[in-house]
Amino acid sequence: MRKLLVAGNWKLNGSQQLLKQWLLDFNDGFDFDKSNCDVALCVPNVYLPLLKQIKPSSMLCGSQDVSSHSQGAYTGEVSAEMLADVGADLVLVGHSERRAYHNESDAKIAAKFQQAIDHALIPVLCVGESHEQRESNQTFAVIEKQLKAVIEKLTPDLADRFLIAYEPVWAIGTGLTASAEQAQEVHQFIRSQLAINDVTMARQIRLLYGGSCNGENAHELFSMPDVDGGLIGGASLTATDFMTICHQANSLLKNER
Ligand code: PEP
Repeated sequence: MRKLLVAGNWKLNGSQQLLKQWLLDFNDGFDFDKSNCDVALCVPNVYLPLLKQIKPSSMLCGSQDVSSHSQGAYTGEVSAEMLADVGADLVLVGHSERRAYHNESDAKIAAKFQQAIDHALIPVLCVGESHEQRESNQTFAVIEKQLKAVIEKLTPDLADRFLIAYEPVWAIGTGLTASAEQAQEVHQFIRSQLAINDVTMARQIRLLYGGSCNGENAHELFSMPDVDGGLIGGASLTATDFMTICHQANSLLKNER
């Protein structure tokens, strides 16, 4: 059985003050000892040391991007080794906002994925189609291409060392959510693509859904057989909203999802 994971993505938001208050509020309402789901928070890199210092020990520390290089003359970049050095456990790679605003190619994203793996970080590979691509029936072709560059590098021993997040671009930050059936259809497709390489690995990989996921829709989305949790943007900025989603994940596990 795959353990659900709920990960927050603060994007370019937050402050030390917000992080401290957020963790106080989260700790007030969420008991890790009674939780069966994993919880991660991806903050701007400057806040990673503080997060590491004051978070509950079971919470995973996440970054939102990583350099495709290990070191050298790459001004402004942060390497996987540096992220690990300040306590990061996981890192998003290929978020649609990085693909769109920083022209990140599939090859670049695959190099970032590899850097994360090489430094024992858990990469969360983000894939997803635009509205136009969905409308013109290209969803599967787009996802297949985004996955291909990374899948080629996978070996069976990596099964529990990475995650994939399906994030339809049209649903991110828009208030539009994929229906549970739409999410399941694409998640099933992603798992089938992974199975071409390795069936056992495909069964083990956790696939997150992201795109306007909130306390209202999380339960239905997470109850789909191939949806193993969520990547949460806007709703992760408020501890109580994020906690509601984590509670939904827990209730599903207790029901032997
Ligand atoms: C995201 O940025 O990964 C995301 C899913 O954002 P939102 O939940 O705000 O749509």
